[in-house]
Amino acid sequence: MKLDLGPELDAFRLRLRKWIEANRAEGLEDVDERALYLSGDRLSGRIAESYRHWTERLLEARLVCPQWPEKFGGQGLSGVQVAVLNEEFHRAGVPRVTRGMGESLVGPSIIVHGTEEQKAHFLPRIISGEDRYCQGFSEPNHGSDLAAVETKGVVDGDEVVISGQKVWTSGAHLANWIFILCRTDPEAPKHRGLSFVLAPLHDNGIEVRPLRQATGASGFSQEFIDGCRAPLFNVIGGLNNGWRVAMTTLGNERGGSATTQHLRYEREFWALVDEATKRGRVGEALVRQDLAWAYTHVQLMRFQGLRLLATLAAKREPGPEASVNKLFWSEYHKRFGEVAVGLLGPDAMLAGEGDAPSGEPDGEGEPGSYHLARWQATFVSSRAGTIFSGTSQIQRNIIGERALGLPKEPPSPVEEQRSQGG
Ligand SMILES: Cc1cc2nc3c(=O)[nH]c(=O)nc-3n(C[C@H](O)[C@H](O)[C@H](O)COP(=O)(O)OP(=O)(O)OC[C@H]3O[C@@H](n4cnc5c(N)ncnc54)[C@H](O)[C@@H]3O)c2cc1C
Repeated sequence: MKLDLGPELDAFRLRLRKWIEANRAEGLEDVDERALYLSGDRLSGRIAESYRHWTERLLEARLVCPQWPEKFGGQGLSGVQVAVLNEEFHRAGVPRVTRGMGESLVGPSIIVHGTEEQKAHFLPRIISGEDRYCQGFSEPNHGSDLAAVETKGVVDGDEVVISGQKVWTSGAHLANWIFILCRTDPEAPKHRGLSFVLAPLHDNGIEVRPLRQATGASGFSQEFIDGCRAPLFNVIGGLNNGWRVAMTTLGNERGGSATTQHLRYEREFWALVDEATKRGRVGEALVRQDLAWAYTHVQLMRFQGLRLLATLAAKREPGPEASVNKLFWSEYHKRFGEVAVGLLGPDAMLAGEGDAPSGEPDGEGEPGSYHLARWQATFVSSRAGTIFSGTSQIQRNIIGERALGLPKEPPSPVEEQRSQGG
């Protein structure tokens, strides 16, 4: 199916296609862009060299964070233009250069809530790659119930001094900045006493301890924060206004990957079909049923993406689609992992020669990490998808309350006790 986006977007697509043809990087065709970002400075050899050149070309052409305003280094592209850009990069087999949480979470929050001075200071540093962020929201006792965070922020002159504990911080080992949600007014109702603070991660009263995951890798960490300092200039949206900023951060799904998101699942699906074919299993009724189920779900993701794109093209704001989308892909992927290991049986536990150490795209691995076979790694890591960025239960609450208009969930006994000051 081809979506007609009109002559302006066709011309934009053509310009991009020509630019990519003239500037394309060699040797990056099979490398996943997220894997490139996650490899950070550990990337080496020919791929690293090619990636560096490619990044420079994209920076010159303002194609890193191109959705950001022109005056801060982007091109001010719309959600539909970003989707076209993603399609063209995918078509040409070249990776986008992304800036992780700086691009997807911090930047958009600064654009909506920051002052002009904050935008001018922080946004270009994210685009250039100088500032790399991780997210300090979750705490040992507060994940889904984010508004209850306990990490304290105390104003001391023109600085905020932060103390407390954060956990599950993805990519902290690659970051040099952290955005922290902390309580700056303990007397105010729980949503109103929070601040959103950007703080340097190193040599700043923050001890980062890596956490070992079920896959063997340490993709995330916990932080023990004791007297971390940040100037008041780094408080985005103003003191005690952090909840609104955090909501922008969490709701920031504007559909740029809408029409390309399913591609990774499609590739993975066909790899499993190959595996089933090699093993002479594709003729079995139950295997065929599982594969047909998976294929149907990947196609539904594609159509859902096109629907989101049509909403953006019509200049309408997407509603709770982000929650429907998150719930759909994460639950699909968890079940797909089960289908894959079910199909392979005990063989799913054997690592082959081509299997990278768990979670490590460059084959280097974290110290002490172990090999997981490809489908075993899919099975284990896909389970995280239904937890991060809001669990499946929380997404269902959002869909129930905001999309279907169902009555609000009654507070749990713990919440009731807390609201009565217990
Ligand atoms: C791979 C991964 C990466 C992560 N990266 C980050 C990161 O970079 N930064 C960060 O700050 N956090 C990160 N997290 C943490 C993540 O945001 C939290 O794990 C998540 O919000 C759930 O919080 P929790 O673990 O405290 O579970 P809880 O909130 O304690 O929930 C426990 C269970 O209760 C259910 N539950 C809770 N409240 C309700 C409710 N109201 N209705 C129905 N069911 C409910 C949940 O769905 C869950 O099943 C990451 C997590 C994972 C798995």
